[in-house]
Amino acid sequence: MEERLERGLHIVATPIGNLRDLSPRAADALRRADRILVEDTRVTAKLLAHIGAKVPMMRYDDHSSEAERDAILARLDDEAIALVSDAGTPLISDPGYKLVRAARAAGHAVHTIPGPSAAIAALTLAGLPTDRFLFLGFLPAKAKARSEALAEIAGVRASLILYESGPRLGDTLAALHEQLGNRDGAVTREISKLHEECVTGTLNELAARYADLQPKGEIVVVVGPPAVPEAATDEQLDAALGEALTRLSASRAAAEVAEKLSLPRKRAYARALELTK
Ligand code: SAM
Repeated sequence: MEERLERGLHIVATPIGNLRDLSPRAADALRRADRILVEDTRVTAKLLAHIGAKVPMMRYDDHSSEAERDAILARLDDEAIALVSDAGTPLISDPGYKLVRAARAAGHAVHTIPGPSAAIAALTLAGLPTDRFLFLGFLPAKAKARSEALAEIAGVRASLILYESGPRLGDTLAALHEQLGNRDGAVTREISKLHEECVTGTLNELAARYADLQPKGEIVVVVGPPAVPEAATDEQLDAALGEALTRLSASRAAAEVAEKLSLPRKRAYARALELTK
C-alpha cells in the first residue's frame, strides 16, 4: 500500500501525447491520491492503467454545480484529491480554476505538480520571440467576436499563442493576417506524438497554405510580435513637432509626438525646446 499523499488539492499535469512525459512526481501523486477529479474517465483510465494505479475517479469540470464543488471541498478536510485534465496542465483552457479558487477560499492546501502544456511546448518549437508572450486560448468561433478579440490585442508587443482545431485553422489564420498584419507565425501540430510538425512562415503564407487544407490532430498557432517601427529620423521628428507646436505647449507637443513616433519623450521634449527657442 502506497503512503498517503498530503491532504489537499493536487493539480497534476499529464502528457499531451507521449505517455513518457508523465513525470515521476506526477505518477507518484496519482498513485497515492485518495481520488482523482477528471474530465473524462475513459481518458484518465488509460493513463492510470499505464502507471498501474487504481484510484477512484470523479468527473469534474467548471460547469459542475456549487453543490458538487462543495462536496469536493468537504472531502479535502481529510483527503488528498488530484485534479487532472484529459491532457496537459489542468486550468489551462481546461477545468479547475473555480475549484482552486474555492479550495483556497476555504483554507485548503493547494499543490501543483507542473508538467507538459501544449502552449509552452508550441512556443519552444516555433522559433519566435519568447521573452514576452500572451496566451489567448481558443479564439471565439464566431467571426465578429473573433474580430473583436483580435482588435483588442493587435497592439500588444508579444508573441501570441492560440489553441485551434483543423477545421477552423484556415479561417483563423486569414483573420490573424487581416487584423495583425503579415507577422511571422508557426502552426504546430501533434506535439510529442508520432506526426509532430511545426510549419513556419508569414501569416500570409500560412493562411494560403491552410486555406483548403484541414490538418488532422491537435494544433497550436504561435504568432510573432508586431515589427518594431523603424526609429524616426531627426527630419521626421522636426516635421511632427513643427506641426504639433502650432497647437500645443512644448511638453504636450513632445508627449504627443513621442507617442506617435514611438520615441523617448525626453528626446522629443529636448528637440521641442530647441525648436521653440
Ligand atoms: N490544458 C491543456 C494544456 O495544458 O496543453 C490544453 C487543453 S485544450 C482543451 C486542448 C488544446 O490544446 C487542443 O485543442 C490543441 O489546441 C492543444 N493541444 C493539446 N495537445 C496538443 C498536442 N499534442 N499538440 C498540439 N496541440 C495540442
